[in-house]
Amino acid sequence: MNHGGTHLLVFLAGIPLLGFLFLLPLQIQWRQLSVPWLGVVHYLACVSPQLGSVLYHLFMNHHGGATVYRKLLTLDMCGICLVNTLGALPIIYCTLLCYPATRSLALLVYSALSSYVIFCAVSAHSNISRFCSFTWQAAFRFYFFYLRWAGLGSGHPSSLRCYLLMDGLALLGGIINISRLPERLRPGKFDYWCNSHQIMHVLVVISILYLHWGVTSDLTWISSHSCPLE
Ligand SMILES: [Zn+2]
Repeated sequence: MNHGGTHLLVFLAGIPLLGFLFLLPLQIQWRQLSVPWLGVVHYLACVSPQLGSVLYHLFMNHHGGATVYRKLLTLDMCGICLVNTLGALPIIYCTLLCYPATRSLALLVYSALSSYVIFCAVSAHSNISRFCSFTWQAAFRFYFFYLRWAGLGSGHPSSLRCYLLMDGLALLGGIINISRLPERLRPGKFDYWCNSHQIMHVLVVISILYLHWGVTSDLTWISSHSCPLE
Protein backbone atom coordinates (compact mmCIF):
# COMPACT_ATOMS: atom_id res chain seq x y z
CA MET A 1 0.00 0.00 0.00
CA ASN A 2 1.24 3.42 -0.97
CA HIS A 3 1.38 5.65 2.10
CA GLY A 4 2.04 8.83 0.14
CA GLY A 5 -0.81 11.30 0.01
CA THR A 6 -2.56 9.63 2.90
CA HIS A 7 -3.63 12.92 4.49
CA LEU A 8 -5.25 13.90 1.24
CA LEU A 9 -7.17 10.60 1.33
CA VAL A 10 -8.62 11.46 4.75
CA PHE A 11 -10.06 14.59 3.12
CA LEU A 12 -11.15 12.75 -0.03
CA ALA A 13 -13.28 10.47 2.14
CA GLY A 14 -13.97 12.92 5.00
CA ILE A 15 -15.59 15.75 3.06
CA PRO A 16 -18.06 13.42 1.29
CA LEU A 17 -18.72 11.74 4.66
CA LEU A 18 -19.80 15.07 6.17
CA GLY A 19 -21.87 15.81 3.08
CA PHE A 20 -23.61 12.44 3.17
CA LEU A 21 -24.10 12.57 6.96
CA PHE A 22 -25.75 15.98 7.10
CA LEU A 23 -27.04 16.90 3.63
CA LEU A 24 -28.37 13.56 2.42
CA PRO A 25 -31.18 13.22 5.03
CA LEU A 26 -32.45 16.65 3.96
CA GLN A 27 -32.89 15.40 0.39
CA ILE A 28 -35.16 12.51 1.37
CA GLN A 29 -38.82 13.47 1.67
CA TRP A 30 -39.40 11.49 4.85
CA ARG A 31 -43.03 12.60 5.32
CA GLN A 32 -43.98 11.31 1.88
CA LEU A 33 -42.18 7.98 2.16
CA SER A 34 -44.62 5.10 2.02
CA VAL A 35 -41.88 2.66 3.09
CA PRO A 36 -39.74 4.54 5.67
CA TRP A 37 -37.20 1.74 6.32
CA LEU A 38 -36.03 2.03 2.71
CA GLY A 39 -34.99 5.63 3.43
CA VAL A 40 -33.08 4.58 6.55
CA VAL A 41 -31.37 1.69 4.76
CA HIS A 42 -30.40 4.02 1.91
CA TYR A 43 -28.93 6.59 4.32
CA LEU A 44 -26.81 3.94 6.10
CA ALA A 45 -25.68 2.57 2.72
CA CYS A 46 -24.41 5.97 1.55
CA VAL A 47 -22.64 6.86 4.81
CA SER A 48 -20.94 3.55 5.67
CA PRO A 49 -18.21 3.31 2.98
CA GLN A 50 -17.05 6.89 3.67
CA LEU A 51 -17.00 6.21 7.41
CA GLY A 52 -14.95 3.03 6.91
CA SER A 53 -12.50 4.84 4.61
CA VAL A 54 -12.04 7.83 6.92
CA LEU A 55 -11.24 5.58 9.90
CA TYR A 56 -8.96 3.44 7.75
CA HIS A 57 -6.92 6.35 6.36
CA LEU A 58 -6.91 8.30 9.61
CA PHE A 59 -5.36 5.42 11.54
CA MET A 60 -3.11 4.28 8.68
CA ASN A 61 -0.78 7.08 9.81
CA HIS A 62 -0.32 5.40 13.17
CA HIS A 63 1.95 2.54 12.26
CA GLY A 64 0.52 -0.13 14.52
CA GLY A 65 1.89 -3.17 12.73
CA ALA A 66 0.27 -5.90 10.67
CA THR A 67 -2.58 -6.80 13.05
CA VAL A 68 -3.83 -3.21 13.33
CA TYR A 69 -3.51 -2.79 9.57
CA ARG A 70 -5.52 -5.98 9.00
CA LYS A 71 -8.28 -4.80 11.38
CA LEU A 72 -8.46 -1.42 9.67
CA LEU A 73 -8.59 -2.99 6.23
CA THR A 74 -11.50 -5.15 7.48
CA LEU A 75 -13.28 -2.00 8.62
CA ASP A 76 -12.74 -0.37 5.21
CA MET A 77 -14.03 -3.56 3.51
CA CYS A 78 -17.13 -3.63 5.75
CA GLY A 79 -18.05 -0.16 4.51
CA ILE A 80 -17.84 -1.29 0.90
CA CYS A 81 -19.80 -4.46 1.74
CA LEU A 82 -22.52 -2.41 3.44
CA VAL A 83 -23.02 -0.07 0.49
CA ASN A 84 -23.18 -3.08 -1.82
CA THR A 85 -25.70 -4.84 0.42
CA LEU A 86 -27.90 -2.07 1.85
CA GLY A 87 -27.62 0.07 -1.28
CA ALA A 88 -29.28 -2.57 -3.44
CA LEU A 89 -32.26 -3.31 -1.15
CA PRO A 90 -34.35 -0.26 -2.23
CA ILE A 91 -33.54 -1.09 -5.89
CA ILE A 92 -34.77 -4.68 -5.47
CA TYR A 93 -37.83 -3.57 -3.46
CA CYS A 94 -38.86 -1.05 -6.08
CA THR A 95 -38.27 -3.39 -9.05
CA LEU A 96 -40.68 -5.96 -7.58
CA LEU A 97 -43.04 -3.45 -5.94
CA CYS A 98 -46.21 -5.17 -7.15
CA TYR A 99 -45.06 -8.73 -6.37
CA PRO A 100 -44.84 -8.79 -2.53
CA ALA A 101 -44.03 -12.52 -2.14
CA THR A 102 -41.30 -12.60 -4.82
CA ARG A 103 -40.02 -9.28 -3.47
CA SER A 104 -39.54 -10.64 0.07
CA LEU A 105 -37.85 -13.75 -1.30
CA ALA A 106 -35.50 -11.67 -3.49
CA LEU A 107 -34.57 -9.40 -0.55
CA LEU A 108 -33.88 -12.48 1.58
CA VAL A 109 -31.76 -14.19 -1.09
CA TYR A 110 -29.75 -11.00 -1.71
CA SER A 111 -29.12 -10.58 2.04
CA ALA A 112 -28.00 -14.21 2.37
CA LEU A 113 -25.75 -13.89 -0.69
CA SER A 114 -24.33 -10.67 0.77
CA SER A 115 -23.41 -12.34 4.06
CA TYR A 116 -21.43 -14.90 2.08
CA VAL A 117 -19.77 -12.13 0.02
CA ILE A 118 -18.85 -10.17 3.20
CA PHE A 119 -17.22 -13.32 4.60
CA CYS A 120 -15.24 -13.81 1.34
CA ALA A 121 -14.21 -10.14 1.09
CA VAL A 122 -13.01 -9.90 4.69
CA SER A 123 -11.06 -13.17 4.56
CA ALA A 124 -9.59 -12.53 1.07
CA HIS A 125 -5.81 -12.40 0.89
CA SER A 126 -5.29 -10.29 -2.21
CA ASN A 127 -6.82 -7.17 -3.77
CA ILE A 128 -7.94 -9.19 -6.78
CA SER A 129 -9.76 -11.92 -4.83
CA ARG A 130 -11.34 -9.20 -2.65
CA PHE A 131 -12.57 -7.43 -5.78
CA CYS A 132 -13.86 -10.69 -7.29
CA SER A 133 -15.97 -11.55 -4.25
CA PHE A 134 -18.29 -8.69 -5.21
CA THR A 135 -19.11 -10.17 -8.62
CA TRP A 136 -21.95 -12.31 -7.17
CA GLN A 137 -23.76 -9.27 -5.83
CA ALA A 138 -23.11 -7.41 -9.10
CA ALA A 139 -24.59 -10.31 -11.12
CA PHE A 140 -27.70 -10.27 -8.90
CA ARG A 141 -28.12 -6.50 -9.36
CA PHE A 142 -27.67 -6.77 -13.11
CA TYR A 143 -30.48 -9.29 -13.26
CA PHE A 144 -32.74 -6.66 -11.67
CA PHE A 145 -31.48 -3.99 -14.07
CA TYR A 146 -32.38 -6.40 -16.87
CA LEU A 147 -35.92 -6.86 -15.44
CA ARG A 148 -36.38 -3.08 -15.45
CA TRP A 149 -34.92 -2.70 -18.92
CA ALA A 150 -37.21 -5.46 -20.27
CA GLY A 151 -40.23 -3.81 -18.66
CA LEU A 152 -40.81 -6.76 -16.31
CA GLY A 153 -39.70 -4.78 -13.25
CA SER A 154 -40.98 -1.43 -12.05
CA GLY A 155 -39.40 1.83 -10.89
CA HIS A 156 -38.83 5.46 -11.83
CA PRO A 157 -37.90 5.63 -15.57
CA SER A 158 -34.70 7.65 -14.96
CA SER A 159 -33.35 5.42 -12.17
CA LEU A 160 -32.01 2.59 -14.33
CA ARG A 161 -29.55 4.96 -16.05
CA CYS A 162 -28.33 6.13 -12.61
CA TYR A 163 -27.81 2.55 -11.42
CA LEU A 164 -25.90 1.54 -14.56
CA LEU A 165 -23.61 4.58 -14.17
CA MET A 166 -23.23 3.73 -10.47
CA ASP A 167 -22.02 0.19 -11.15
CA GLY A 168 -19.92 1.30 -14.14
CA LEU A 169 -18.05 3.91 -12.06
CA ALA A 170 -17.57 1.52 -9.13
CA LEU A 171 -16.19 -1.13 -11.49
CA LEU A 172 -13.83 1.40 -13.07
CA GLY A 173 -12.67 2.51 -9.60
CA GLY A 174 -11.99 -1.09 -8.59
CA ILE A 175 -10.03 -1.81 -11.79
CA ILE A 176 -7.93 1.37 -11.43
CA ASN A 177 -7.19 0.51 -7.79
CA ILE A 178 -6.07 -3.02 -8.65
CA SER A 179 -4.09 -2.07 -11.77
CA ARG A 180 -2.18 0.66 -9.87
CA LEU A 181 -2.47 3.06 -12.80
CA PRO A 182 -1.15 5.72 -13.43
CA GLU A 183 1.68 5.40 -10.83
CA ARG A 184 2.83 2.10 -12.31
CA LEU A 185 3.76 3.88 -15.57
CA ARG A 186 5.82 6.64 -13.93
CA PRO A 187 6.89 5.50 -10.44
CA GLY A 188 7.30 8.29 -7.89
CA LYS A 189 5.38 10.89 -9.92
CA PHE A 190 1.99 10.20 -8.36
CA ASP A 191 2.92 9.63 -4.70
CA TYR A 192 0.96 12.65 -3.50
CA TRP A 193 -1.53 13.50 -6.23
CA CYS A 194 -3.70 11.53 -8.62
CA ASN A 195 -2.58 8.04 -7.65
CA SER A 196 -4.85 5.07 -8.32
CA HIS A 197 -6.19 4.89 -4.77
CA GLN A 198 -7.22 8.55 -4.76
CA ILE A 199 -8.87 8.21 -8.19
CA MET A 200 -10.78 5.22 -6.84
CA HIS A 201 -12.04 7.25 -3.88
CA VAL A 202 -13.32 10.02 -6.14
CA LEU A 203 -15.04 7.48 -8.42
CA VAL A 204 -16.65 5.74 -5.42
CA VAL A 205 -18.11 9.04 -4.21
CA ILE A 206 -19.56 9.84 -7.66
CA SER A 207 -20.88 6.28 -7.87
CA ILE A 208 -22.70 6.69 -4.52
CA LEU A 209 -24.15 10.00 -5.76
CA TYR A 210 -25.68 8.15 -8.72
CA LEU A 211 -27.05 5.52 -6.32
CA HIS A 212 -28.55 8.34 -4.27
CA TRP A 213 -30.15 10.07 -7.27
CA GLY A 214 -31.58 6.77 -8.52
CA VAL A 215 -32.98 5.74 -5.13
CA THR A 216 -34.52 9.14 -4.30
CA SER A 217 -36.38 9.07 -7.64
CA ASP A 218 -37.49 5.50 -6.94
CA LEU A 219 -38.70 6.32 -3.43
CA THR A 220 -40.83 9.23 -4.62
CA TRP A 221 -42.07 7.03 -7.46
CA ILE A 222 -43.26 4.35 -4.95
CA SER A 223 -45.45 6.94 -3.16
CA SER A 224 -47.19 7.89 -6.40
CA HIS A 225 -47.52 4.40 -7.86
CA SER A 226 -50.47 2.12 -7.23
CA CYS A 227 -50.24 -1.55 -8.19
CA PRO A 228 -52.95 -2.95 -10.48
CA LEU A 229 -55.53 -4.99 -8.58
CA GLU A 230 -55.61 -8.72 -9.29
ZN1 LIG B 1 -8.87 4.20 0.72
